[in-house]
Amino acid sequence: MSAYEDDCLEIIDRAQAAGVKTIFTVGIDLQSSEAAVHLAGRHDNIYALVGIHPHHAREAGPAAYRRLSELAGDTKVIGYGEIGIDLCKDYAPVALQKKAYLEQLHLAKELELPVIIHDREAHAEIIAGLQEVGPFPAGGLIHCFSGDKEVARRFVDLGFYLSIPGVVTFKKALEIQEAAASIPLDRLLVETDGPFLAPEPWRGKRNEPAYTLYTAEKIAELKNISLDEVARRTTANAARLFQIPLCSR
Ligand SMILES: [Zn+2]
Repeated sequence: MSAYEDDCLEIIDRAQAAGVKTIFTVGIDLQSSEAAVHLAGRHDNIYALVGIHPHHAREAGPAAYRRLSELAGDTKVIGYGEIGIDLCKDYAPVALQKKAYLEQLHLAKELELPVIIHDREAHAEIIAGLQEVGPFPAGGLIHCFSGDKEVARRFVDLGFYLSIPGVVTFKKALEIQEAAASIPLDRLLVETDGPFLAPEPWRGKRNEPAYTLYTAEKIAELKNISLDEVARRTTANAARLFQIPLCSR
């Protein structure tokens, strides 16, 4: 995203210094999907995902899907998404969001890629789509998970992984803290959702991969396990789901 235009290389360096060995950069429309693949092509430790985010549902359709399918042929593309439904921001008509969501669930399956789901206050609609189009042999991830413990359990039952953003470090985010504590360690990932949702102590600032350290620390505290175990398990989960080599730490 444009928030990283000026100092991308420094961000990658800071991530390495913080112990983040691998970065996934995620497309939200055609242009950013192209950019993601391009960036991944220039760095061994960066992988790309491509797709049309619900905010950009107007851009979805056969021509876009053809181009995204071409991009998905690149060896550094390891997943399809973000796709989904956002009933919070409402940047695109809900009917269009749902159409693009279902069409791309089918496309992800066809491409045999794990699917990355954006679910913002649309748990019922998202789950309905997963039940309608699933099962998903390549698996999938509910990114930036924002539901409660019960919603988490439903996604786990559907075979999905869940990724926790920096929000979990916020003082009043009790629901997500309880949910994060409840998610089995073999289904848990951490993420930035950068440039948004920076964890404490960076709340309100631009987020970047190095800060996943703070999110992992909070999860260690919630689950009463070591930071090292959170790092090891979430990394192994990501490697398993996205079929990438497990990086040495
Ligand atoms: Zn998202």
